Amino acid sequence: MLAIEKMYEMFPKAHGELQHQNPYELLIAVILSAQATDVSVNKATPALFQAFPTPESLAVACVDEIIPKIKTIGLYRNKAKNIKACAQQLLQRFNGQVPQTREELISLPGVGRKTANVVLGDAFGIPAIAVDTHVERVTKRLRICKLNASVVEVEETLMRKVPKELWIKTHHTLIFFGRYHCTARNPHCKICPLLEMCQDGKNRLKAKEIL
Ligand code: SF4
Repeated sequence: MLAIEKMYEMFPKAHGELQHQNPYELLIAVILSAQATDVSVNKATPALFQAFPTPESLAVACVDEIIPKIKTIGLYRNKAKNIKACAQQLLQRFNGQVPQTREELISLPGVGRKTANVVLGDAFGIPAIAVDTHVERVTKRLRICKLNASVVEVEETLMRKVPKELWIKTHHTLIFFGRYHCTARNPHCKICPLLEMCQDGKNRLKAKEIL
């Protein structure tokens, strides 16, 4: 797809930005990143993982011990409960290992489809496309997906249009493109290499001229 190929050229080094050393840390970091920025999660996780380096240590921690470590992240009370419960489930049901199927991942507390897809792709290299706010916005602006498509429909459309071996790369590239170029407010349409194929961008520039 031409639009996505151009994005690969713009962001050849697009990658997941949540810092982690292993699948357990990534899983916890992605749970914490819901409705929060990767930057805020990366600030909190070094101390969190120093205190609770394994599912075993997190599972036996009190929520009141976890909260101070993640207090700078939004929704921290619920997230503290979820990551503790998640660690307990990892121990009880998966021998302390992070499972490698979407169904099993989604069965964990605090883990939805997007989180599961990030873990599959970034922890295990299993092809998946996680649709976050950036992926949804960019694909809709470029009409790669229908404007009224649900998150699952966006994911399905991308899986249909992009070869499987490029799913993980495409996921990261769309996020970089949305985070650093086609931003929610004030996208960089004027200098966008995709402007020719983007009616949304053309409309924005036209509206600015009129104003
Ligand atoms: Fe995004 Fe504007 Fe580029 Fe369209 S032209 S993809 S809206 S930055």
